[in-house]
Amino acid sequence: MEAEAFAKANLSLRVRAPDSSGRHPLLSLAQSIDWADHLMLERAAADAFTLSGLTVPADDTNLAWRALEAVRRAAPRPLPAALALDKGIPVAAGLGGGSADAAATLVLASRLFCLPDAGRDALAPGLGADVPFCLQGGTALMEGYGERLTALPPLGGFWLAVVVPPFEIATAAAYRRWDDLGGPQGPAVAGRDLPPILRPEDPLVNDLVPAALSLVPELGDWLADLQRLWGREVLMSGSGPALFAFFAAANEAEEAAAAVSGARATQACRPVPRGWQVPSGTLT
Ligand code: ATP
Repeated sequence: MEAEAFAKANLSLRVRAPDSSGRHPLLSLAQSIDWADHLMLERAAADAFTLSGLTVPADDTNLAWRALEAVRRAAPRPLPAALALDKGIPVAAGLGGGSADAAATLVLASRLFCLPDAGRDALAPGLGADVPFCLQGGTALMEGYGERLTALPPLGGFWLAVVVPPFEIATAAAYRRWDDLGGPQGPAVAGRDLPPILRPEDPLVNDLVPAALSLVPELGDWLADLQRLWGREVLMSGSGPALFAFFAAANEAEEAAAAVSGARATQACRPVPRGWQVPSGTLT
């Protein structure tokens, strides 16, 4: 059985001061986008994990493999399995690729090992803050540590041009730097600069922008250059460095993405109403 795992963009991300557990509560407007990894899972004589596409750890630290193991520990019929991951979502970019893989693997493995959906869903928060959102997908307000989700009506009528600058930002390092900087607020994008459907969300903010800029000052050049090139506000997803802007049509977003040079990756993406997708008929 196979699945596509969709990336997420944080259209807005407010960060709160860490609580007694040291974790940062957040408030994020999250959106699944059609930049995808591809996963295949089958029963096998012995465990196997194969990777293609972009490079990520091919061992038991991989979030997809960790999701498979979590299902097997909880499932009534744990058996050997072969998992194949074809990685297309840029890594450590703020696009939640590892979380998307974990969510899609939870879906596939729970079907393969007969774990009910309630048991599957309970495993998601333990795998990462973005995993519950990637499992639910679409458009949602994320609160708490990502485990409190309010599904919102699907967004549409816009495309994103997404650019991943040629460096990585580790999420944990960005939150540590945010603490060191005293918990700054990020730049705000006002409703008048947003697609009509997003104007009620005014303003969109990412509080991790100052931390990301402090960690990699070069990000500021990317922000300024894209703003100039595209003639509009540019936002950052998650802890970065993925940057994006809104466009009214697919061809505009495609042209905007294609006009950028020197990036690790660029893509025109549309919002999708789910976090994963299986070819019709492969799961019942
Ligand atoms: P987020 O926005 O959720 O913080 P991200 O997009 O910044 O995530 P990921 O691409 O999920 O970051 O990768 C974060 C780290 O997780 C990387 O350092 C990577 O080595 C590790 N990792 C483990 N499994 C995976 C996976 N299946 N895909 C991508 N990264 C993985």
